[in-house]
Amino acid sequence: MTEISIVGLGLMGTALAGTLLKAGHEVTVWNRTDSKTEPLVAMGARRAANLAEAVRPGSLVIVCVLDYDTVHGLLGQTELRGVTLVNLTSGRPEEARRTAEWAEARGAGYLDGGVMAVPQMIGAPGALILYSGSREVFDRFAEPLGQLAEARFVDTDPGLAPLLDMAMLTGMYGQIAGITQGFALVRSAGLPLRDFASTLLVPWLRAMGELAHRWAEEVDAGQWGTDVANLGVNKVALDSIALAMREQGIEGNLLAPFKHLVDKRVADGHQDQGLQSLVEELHPGR
Ligand code: NDP
Repeated sequence: MTEISIVGLGLMGTALAGTLLKAGHEVTVWNRTDSKTEPLVAMGARRAANLAEAVRPGSLVIVCVLDYDTVHGLLGQTELRGVTLVNLTSGRPEEARRTAEWAEARGAGYLDGGVMAVPQMIGAPGALILYSGSREVFDRFAEPLGQLAEARFVDTDPGLAPLLDMAMLTGMYGQIAGITQGFALVRSAGLPLRDFASTLLVPWLRAMGELAHRWAEEVDAGQWGTDVANLGVNKVALDSIALAMREQGIEGNLLAPFKHLVDKRVADGHQDQGLQSLVEELHPGR
C-alpha cells in the first residue's frame, strides 16, 4: 500500500488524516505545531520527527496548510524527487500553475485540489474535491482520494480546480452577503430571524438558485433578452431596497456594487436585457 503523508494538521488536514486512518491507510503526519499530531497518533498515525521524514521518495504527500506561500516555504526546504504532491491548500489559479511547474521541475508529480467541503464533511456523502493537473497522479491515487470525498478531475491545467473552487466560493459569498443584508432588514423590524429563514428566505433562495441553470445557458449562447424581469425593473427594485435600508436605519448596503453594475448597464441603454447580461459587463468572454 502507498505511504501517505499529511503535511498540515489544521482543521482540514486533521480531518483528511483521520479519514484515511479510518479507511485503513497507513498515514504519516507532520505539522509545524507538533502537539496537533497527538490525536492522530492515538488513532494509529505515525508522527514524522521532521518534514523530510514525511516527504519521502515514493510517498503520496497531501499538503493542506494556510496558503501557497506556506507550501513553498515548507517544501522548498525538502527533496521532492520521486514524491507525489497533492496540494489541497486553497489558492489562486496562477499560484497552482506556478506550483505545478515548480514541483515538476524538481522531479515530483503534482495534482492540485479544491476542497468543496468543511472538515466535518470529509469522508461523508456530499463532500467534493475538484482536482486538476496530472491525470496520471489522479488515476494512480483514485482509491485514497476517493475516501476523502467525491473526487472529480476537471482538467490537466493545474489552475482549473482553484478557478472553479473560487467561482463556487464567489457564488457562496455573494449569497451570504445578500442573506446578511436581508437579515438586517428583518432585524430592523424587531422580528426574530428563525421563522423568516425557515419559512421564507431559504425556500425562496432555493427556488431562485434554480434560475442559474437558465442564465448559464443564455450566457453561453450570448442571449441577453429576457421574459423574466428586465434590468429596468430590477433597477427600480434595487433603488427602492437601497432607500428602504436607509429608512430602516441600516448601515451600509452590501448590494451596492451589484446595483452599480445594473445602473451602468441601464444608463448604457440595455434596460430591456435580463440580469444574465451583467456577466457581459464583467467579462466579454473568450
Ligand atoms: P487552519 O488554520 O486550521 O490550519 C492551518 C494550517 O497551516 C496548520 O497546520 C498550520 O500550522 C499551518 N501553517 C500556517 N502557517 C504556517 C507556517 N508559516 N508554517 C508552517 N505551517 C503553517 O486552516 P484549515 O485547516 O481550515 O485550512 C487549511 C487549508 O484548507 C486552507 O488553504 C483552507 O482554505 C483550505 N480549506 C479549508 C476549509 C475549511 O472549512 N476549514 C474548506 C476548504 C478548504 P500550525 O498548526 O502550526 O499553526
